[in-house]
Amino acid sequence: MAANKKLLVLPGDGIGPEVMNEVRRVIDWMEHRRRARFDISEGLVGGAAIEAEGAPISDATMEAARTADAVLFGSVGGPKWDKLPFEERPELGILRLRKELGLFANLRPAVVLDPLVEASSLKPDVIRGLDIMIVRESTGGIYFGEPRGIHKNEAGQRVGIDTEVYSEEEIARVARVAFDLARKRRNKVTSTEKANVMQSGRLWRAVVSEVQAAEFPDVQLEHMYADNAAMQLCSRPKQFDVILGSNLFGDLLSDLAAALTGSLGMLPSATLGAVQPGGKRHALYEPIHGSAPDIAGQGIANPSAQILSFAMLLRWSFGMEEDAQMIEQAVERVLAGGMRTADIMQPGMARVGTKVMGESVLRELEKLI
Ligand code: NAD
Repeated sequence: MAANKKLLVLPGDGIGPEVMNEVRRVIDWMEHRRRARFDISEGLVGGAAIEAEGAPISDATMEAARTADAVLFGSVGGPKWDKLPFEERPELGILRLRKELGLFANLRPAVVLDPLVEASSLKPDVIRGLDIMIVRESTGGIYFGEPRGIHKNEAGQRVGIDTEVYSEEEIARVARVAFDLARKRRNKVTSTEKANVMQSGRLWRAVVSEVQAAEFPDVQLEHMYADNAAMQLCSRPKQFDVILGSNLFGDLLSDLAAALTGSLGMLPSATLGAVQPGGKRHALYEPIHGSAPDIAGQGIANPSAQILSFAMLLRWSFGMEEDAQMIEQAVERVLAGGMRTADIMQPGMARVGTKVMGESVLRELEKLI
């Protein structure tokens, strides 16, 4: 399959560059063996950008992100920059990307691969075969709503305020992403909120129902209070297909779902913007783990989440479904063959480092082609 797609690679800090190296090898393999063509540029972000360019992301890198078809992001942050004031911290790099590219829908798959079924804290029969997708609204809601802050009240007491604000358009556009995804999966959306106690939850429920009735009548929709959804995720997770939630509830539920799989080093994510006239859609792909400063530079980080983030990118931004599946299968086969990085090590398995894990994925790709 031929492609000539603009890809911006931002490895970032800590283990970011280490795991991204393994993706670069997968890309090289695809160019040689699958005749894919990528137009790749690389930039700095986070602490690395602060050191070299004086800001967590430069205007030039932002411009490169705006013109790219997709951004592959590593991770940012580390103890070296922990004492910087909030406005100067490495995390501002990713926040600026999300804000200026309008990346409002965060997609987080929680998949339990068969070889890792024992890594979960849940019983194997509860978790085996789990494949759910959490869609989290990521630019609105209580993390951004005004008024916010810490004030003194009339009695001189400090009062902390955050405000949950959602317009119907913000709810509708992320609901459409969830319904669209469900159509390509098992055709079911569970929308979560607290319509029993929150006004924004009442609106959320109403708008999601309206979007379904008007545009996605073929997709099954159920509404569930977010606290019940958390409980159901722990007791009967396989009932879900796509779970939709606000910035706050989606944040909590996606972390919970990730924990169910028991392996931070395995999980990718995508954050999508609106489809623009002409069909282009900004999108950023990143592992859900951070820069893991405790193991950075040791060559032991698990590159799977970064490699699987690239597979997601191929699927959602470049329409390369076959290649995406091939990469996912290669990663699963490496695990089935008994190789494990330290984070997912199990008794009787072979412990390997970042490079050997990456090489093993390439070897499996070669067998699959
Ligand atoms: P973390 O995800 O970096 O690490 C948590 C634990 O998991 C650590 O013990 C780490 O060694 C391990 N781990 C994570 N990824 C791994 C991998 N691929 N292979 C093997 N082990 C892995 O979270 P943290 O320790 O809370 O944060 C560290 C830094 O990362 C902080 O500066 C934080 O702000 C930043 N962070 C960045 C992002 C991002 O860039 N999107 C996300 C989360 C955290």
